[in-house]
Amino acid sequence: MTTGIHKNLANQLKELDITSLDSLTEDIWYALLNHISNSYKQSDKERLALEQSLQRSSDEMSALYDSLKKSTATKLAAERDKLGAIINSMGIGLMMIDNHGRITLLNNTAKSMLNDQTGELVGMGLFDILLPDENAAVQPVTGIFEIQQLFDGRDQMNGSWVFIKRYDRSHFPASVVLAPVDRRDKSLGAAVLFRDITNEKTTEEKLRLSSLVFNNTNNAVVISNPDGIIQAVNRAFLKITGYSERQAIGHAIVELLNIDVGAESLDGVISELKPDQSWEGELNLNKKSSKPFQAWVTVTATTAETGGISQYLTIFTDISILQQSTQQLHHLAHHDLLTNLPNRLLFHKALDKSLEEAKNNKTLLAILFLDLDRFKIINDSMGHPVGDELLTTVALRLKSLVGNQYIVSRFGGDEFTILMDGIKNKSEAASLAERITKEIERPVFLNGAETFITTSIGICIYPEHGHDAIELIRNADAAMYYAKASGRNNYQFYYNALNEKATDNIKLESSLRYALDKNEFVLYYQPQIALGTKCITGFEALLRWQHPTLGLLTPDKFLDVAIETGLIIPIGRWVLSEACNNIARLNKSSRHAVRIAVNLSTHQIMFGDIAADIKAVLAETGIKPERLELEITESSFMQHEEHTISALRKVEAMGVKFAIDDFGTGYASMEYLKIIPVDRLKIDRTFIKDLAHDMMDKAIVRSIITLAHSITIPVVAEGVETEEQLDILNSMLCNEAQGFYFSPAVTADAAEEMLALSLSPEE
Ligand code: C2E
Ligand code: CA
Ligand code: CA
Repeated sequence: MTTGIHKNLANQLKELDITSLDSLTEDIWYALLNHISNSYKQSDKERLALEQSLQRSSDEMSALYDSLKKSTATKLAAERDKLGAIINSMGIGLMMIDNHGRITLLNNTAKSMLNDQTGELVGMGLFDILLPDENAAVQPVTGIFEIQQLFDGRDQMNGSWVFIKRYDRSHFPASVVLAPVDRRDKSLGAAVLFRDITNEKTTEEKLRLSSLVFNNTNNAVVISNPDGIIQAVNRAFLKITGYSERQAIGHAIVELLNIDVGAESLDGVISELKPDQSWEGELNLNKKSSKPFQAWVTVTATTAETGGISQYLTIFTDISILQQSTQQLHHLAHHDLLTNLPNRLLFHKALDKSLEEAKNNKTLLAILFLDLDRFKIINDSMGHPVGDELLTTVALRLKSLVGNQYIVSRFGGDEFTILMDGIKNKSEAASLAERITKEIERPVFLNGAETFITTSIGICIYPEHGHDAIELIRNADAAMYYAKASGRNNYQFYYNALNEKATDNIKLESSLRYALDKNEFVLYYQPQIALGTKCITGFEALLRWQHPTLGLLTPDKFLDVAIETGLIIPIGRWVLSEACNNIARLNKSSRHAVRIAVNLSTHQIMFGDIAADIKAVLAETGIKPERLELEITESSFMQHEEHTISALRKVEAMGVKFAIDDFGTGYASMEYLKIIPVDRLKIDRTFIKDLAHDMMDKAIVRSIITLAHSITIPVVAEGVETEEQLDILNSMLCNEAQGFYFSPAVTADAAEEMLALSLSPEE
């Protein structure tokens, strides 16, 4: 009888292809399990226990066999062997569990699926090897719950899946069915059948991800059949086109989007697509509202299993916004943010184009290279926002002067370039340059105060001064440096020897930056002599730069660059401190007190904090303020700037003396004496030079001395080189003199010695 059932079952299993768990109906399962349970029931409980241990130990098994042979019918054992063979040959995992949920038996498939060749899992709880996976969603947990319910005899199983932990602790997703051996007798336990569903899960995950992408991409996706009828669209499609899903599906894609098939012949292109091929390009599509938009479209023909085209996959993005931002980016890349003028890049492009035309048409072209004078000082002293405001003002002025005729660009920093193409002669460029200097010169109101800025312009002409863009710009730049060297606020044309000069300047500029840190500055001292007593009354401190390669440099070599770069402020601070330290030294060592005169540049007064600097240095050195004399030029008074005047008044209040330097070369008005009392006048060297021979100079010097004496101000004559000059000055009752006749400027040590040898006024 049992043999019959086995045969039946074996046939059924064979027919049903037992490897496919899902294809088994519940009825068949029960038939199978009933049979298993029946065969077990036929033996008594003891034997069942023996049977279970049989699986575990071969020693026990043989012993069992022996006892079985003795005590029971060998037939039953044979039945069991057969059944065991069937179970073991099943392509799915089978575990038997007892009524406590403990595993009592594993078939071979289960053993290999669980990596448990020796049946170590026997005795473990089923629920110990079912896992809620941390990464997995609700499903496995629900699965375990359902199995639990089933185990408790409360529910039906409905195709749940769980993770099963292997003996080696790795795990896999499995579809599990749990069936009680006997629904009426729970003590008999249950059969657990399971199948590895890793592949299905992977596919499922892939599908889930594809649908995620499909619905969340910003690209519109349309799936249409080979006739172009839409089968599916994604969210982005609805958003971009304004159609609803219902309005789209079932309609021809070409009609819906009003694709202009004529223009691009999209129809033609697409109909030629072979399976797996795709086409992409830019098309004008229409929204539901008929509003046209530019789209970047990709059409792919997907392959059917039969080899033909199964579907068309059309993906597109609205690129009109992209194009707008591309234009914006293009503008940004080619314009200066602050002034909105074309930048260096655009200037170069325009220059290349204009050069091409000038070459073809044999016309002239000019480049004007502008650099603001002393911009750095304003920028550093008044703050970058003010600097920015100044640059914007300059840009506006240039633009309004030049209009749209020529390209004005901000080349960088405080540099601007103008490209004049199609000019007839050089004087056109000269005339524009002249108008620009006048325009820039006009006062600018910054922070509510009037400020002055000037510009130096270099001009370079194609083809006379260069043939390509790089050369022309470089030469215009060199000409600009020349304009700076020629006193600023002017324009200069390029000429051949210029480039060397410009490079020298650049080299000087970079080494000047480090000169302070490297302690390369020194002060030399030139004595000032009282004409009556021939005593030294003071020294003028004159700056020298001990340049590492160029040797000892006088200020005419580097002062311009120092002013241009703003370095004059820290350098001037150093000069003050060095000079005052030397005053302290001289006064200690010498029998009679002398003053030291220090030159101040206008920029130090206008843009630095000269009052604070002097206050600090007086405190630091402890010298008497009247020992320090500041030499300022008349131009310091020319700009009646609030800041300058209040700074000078503060310094004056500290007891520091003032001398007017280079008197007679500038303003030649004594107006400023009302602003600040001056202690000394220094007649400029140019009047002394030809004093013996030039009647005019003689007259000027005489009247300066008379004028000064009338307001009781002593006079110093500068640049006295001969005895003849000295005699004349003596006869004019000039008070003091300074010049090579007595001594050039010498080192501090030499000055100290000189002072020691000199008579004191009292002697
Ligand atoms: P300055 O204030 O007019 O100084 C007098 C210049 O005349 C000095 O030139 C001096 O060496 C020169 N000199 C003196 N006696 C004679 C003479 O008999 N014959 C001739 N031919 N020259 C004579 P140096 O030292 O080259 O200075 C040039 C200018 O540089 C100075 O002119 C002054 O404006 C400026 N300078 C010098 N030192 C400083 C400084 O520490 N700070 C500032 N801001 N400027 C300075
Ligand atoms: Ca001086
Ligand atoms: Ca002078």
